[in-house]
Amino acid sequence: MDNDCLFCRIVAGEIPATVVHETDTTLAFRDIDPKAPVHVLVIPKDHHPDVVALARDDPAGSAALLASAAAVAEAEGLLTDGFRLLFNTGGYAGQEVFHVHAHVVGGAPLGPMLAPR
Ligand code: 5GP
Ligand code: ZN
Repeated sequence: MDNDCLFCRIVAGEIPATVVHETDTTLAFRDIDPKAPVHVLVIPKDHHPDVVALARDDPAGSAALLASAAAVAEAEGLLTDGFRLLFNTGGYAGQEVFHVHAHVVGGAPLGPMLAPR
């Protein structure tokens, strides 16, 4: 655990979160500032700063994270109409929390993938 990491502190139960799914190695909870009717963050319980580090250092954890994201999408009723699954990574993507997290976003039409430039 990284004591300075917000999402490690959520895993440790030190900061409250609305948990919607949990496995031995993953946790999913609602985003505090949702950008769509459904906006859930799915994280590995172990600390990895971003998806590149997770993929490199923990292939089994990567697979578990994807499986949990899919389970969340199904449980939230997103499979029929579709949803978006994304990992902001680094500065250009605006990553704010450096504990890897998949955003599961859906529940309404989501518009273009990227904001107009
Ligand atoms: P990023 O920009 O790093 O991909 O996304 C970070 C996400 O974490 C944002 O969507 C933000 O709303 C969410 N977030 C930040 N602080 C908290 C928090 O304390 N609790 C929860 N549930 N979400 C948070
Ligand atoms: Zn962390």
